[in-house]
Amino acid sequence: MTKKVVLKGLAFVALAGVLSGCGTTTNKAKTATASQKTSQQSRRQQLISALPKGVKSTDSDLVLVNKWHKRGEMTFNKSDVDGIAVRSSIVKPLEAFLAGAKKAGYPTTMVSGYRSVAYQQEVWNQSIQTYENEGKSAKQALKLTKEFVAVPSGSEHETGLAADIMNTHWFSTHDNQLLSSSDKNKGQQWLIKHAADYGFILRFPKDGAKSTGIDYESWHFRYVGKKSAAFITKHNLTLEQYVSLLKAHEK
Ligand SMILES: [Zn+2]
Repeated sequence: MTKKVVLKGLAFVALAGVLSGCGTTTNKAKTATASQKTSQQSRRQQLISALPKGVKSTDSDLVLVNKWHKRGEMTFNKSDVDGIAVRSSIVKPLEAFLAGAKKAGYPTTMVSGYRSVAYQQEVWNQSIQTYENEGKSAKQALKLTKEFVAVPSGSEHETGLAADIMNTHWFSTHDNQLLSSSDKNKGQQWLIKHAADYGFILRFPKDGAKSTGIDYESWHFRYVGKKSAAFITKHNLTLEQYVSLLKAHEK
């Protein structure tokens, strides 16, 4: 009985948008012309030769989880930052990032950090159940769930290296919702602009959906280390593109 109540709460949270981070997908395929492909190839070569030294695609900070790269439960130590669990290895840079924002005059709220595969599965199942209870067909329930909830084993919150961070004022005056329009807020802009200084990237940038599988999220930050964060941000890459460059370089 108690469990049922808890699950109901989770589903409500999910549908309210808190768990939609990393959930939605798009299929905006674009076709490139032959000359575009050639210039993309040469840009790729330039990027490969400029990659930071001492970084490998297999580094634990660069673990890639998305709907194409699903992972089982990962093992690592966890610690709380502002009451939210993250991988212990990112506590220092994360606390520095949040302290930096506060010092600049923009206090933040940690909305979400580590989530287990099992938790994501519960949220997923409960979402489908809720839609079916509302009279939706199994197919409709699945479609709606995919729009709002990250696929179990395919959410990078399972790595413990991701944090959903919102400017506190904006968050509290927008019904505690995660909305991409939060980037209109100066505090959120500060977070996006300075993330790389602390080793974080905005994981789902504008125009990155084709590569990440997820639409723009102005709140989802991912720790990758300072060298990688600087490179990814400077060259406007996604983590998927960056790891692909590292792999090509290692061949
Ligand atoms: Zn997120």
